[in-house]
Amino acid sequence: MNCPCDTGKLQSFESALAQLLSAAIPIQETEIVALDNALGRVVARDITSSIAVPPADNSAMDGYAVRYADIVSGQILPISQRVAAGQRAEAIKPGTVVRLFTGSEIPEGADTVIMQEESILEDDGVRFTTLPKQGEHIRRAGQDINIGDQIIAQGTLLAPQHLGVLASIGIAEVSVYRRLKVAVLNTGDELVMPGASCPKGKIYNSNYFTLAGLLTRLGCDVWTPGVVKDTPEATAQALAKAAVKADVIISSGGVSVGEEDHVKAAVESLGSLNLWRLAIKPGKPLAFGEVKGTPFIGLPGNPSAVLVTFLMLARPYLMKMQGHNKQQPKSYPVLAGFDRDKLVQRKEFLRVSVANDNGRLMAIPARSQSSGVLSSAVMADGLLVIPELHPIERGASYMFIPFTELGAI
Ligand code: AMP
Ligand code: MG
Repeated sequence: MNCPCDTGKLQSFESALAQLLSAAIPIQETEIVALDNALGRVVARDITSSIAVPPADNSAMDGYAVRYADIVSGQILPISQRVAAGQRAEAIKPGTVVRLFTGSEIPEGADTVIMQEESILEDDGVRFTTLPKQGEHIRRAGQDINIGDQIIAQGTLLAPQHLGVLASIGIAEVSVYRRLKVAVLNTGDELVMPGASCPKGKIYNSNYFTLAGLLTRLGCDVWTPGVVKDTPEATAQALAKAAVKADVIISSGGVSVGEEDHVKAAVESLGSLNLWRLAIKPGKPLAFGEVKGTPFIGLPGNPSAVLVTFLMLARPYLMKMQGHNKQQPKSYPVLAGFDRDKLVQRKEFLRVSVANDNGRLMAIPARSQSSGVLSSAVMADGLLVIPELHPIERGASYMFIPFTELGAI
């Protein structure tokens, strides 16, 4: 990998993402989990159905099964059988009707269901108030799933509806990729943990909680050695330990080229590193490499830059490592509810909220877009993407990536 940082040139977001994705090697280890524990896991093989859903024709309504040919306007037909959902039906006797309910099996020989609301119960049978259409109100065997249908592809993230579909074909356990272990290293002598006092000159470590939360949402196991001091020794020691403990190491801070930034040198002493200067805002510096063979991503220190670089770059990388077949978030066009003349050299990911303005979705920028201000991410619904060197015109359309698409929920 070449390192554009050496030339001072900013690398585009797209090329950095492409490099990250091409370097991500999906984990191969799988495990079998019960359906109860499969939510949020990534399926390790294609799943096909060995049964039809529904397995047999059944009624879509409470009503009566009939032979269409027997129906004559105004005529009363006797009820020869009553079939509740879950009971076996016998073949329909010609010239009779069968009382049934939603989900009841259709008796052999019956070809139409007339709904209860279109029938009048008499002493000696049932009379129908409207003439049916042949075949109506029957849910056909296999109308949902046929034998041999592929219902879930390898690499699918299991959402509740996937679990429901798996259950509907009788599957009780599923093969998924094992969870990815991710080490989170937060560098900085200024950092103290919430719960401790915060003397002058110190700040609370917010990045750990942002990153641990995002990783948990992704289904990763998180390991941390705690805050890493700004010394070459402490940095190297934490990295070496993380390389043994985790599949991927993610750090925050210490990745620029200041005297107190030790991550670059420490990673280079234990493995290899490319420090990229990216044409994105927030989040210019981003490091990528390996520590004793374990992939390493070095995020900036500023809390909003951490959020954006994780969501837009580290997240798709980790998703590919986890075996996901889709890594890219969906984005949607929304209208800018504001103007800005200033042209920014870098691609921007603005924190915005989205409001419904008479049926049009309008993006409203958060109070501050500073990379050090995290509270504005709390007010936002997602990220508005502004291409480099682009003015923002009120009412013009820009792509919006909701936080729900990014697991930042
Ligand atoms: P650095 O890249 O280490 O120079 O950090 C850039 C800025 O982010 C500095 O103002 C740091 O204090 C701040 N920062 C770094 N790490 C964290 C963290 N874990 N939590 C909150 N702020 C941080
Ligand atoms: Mg620092």
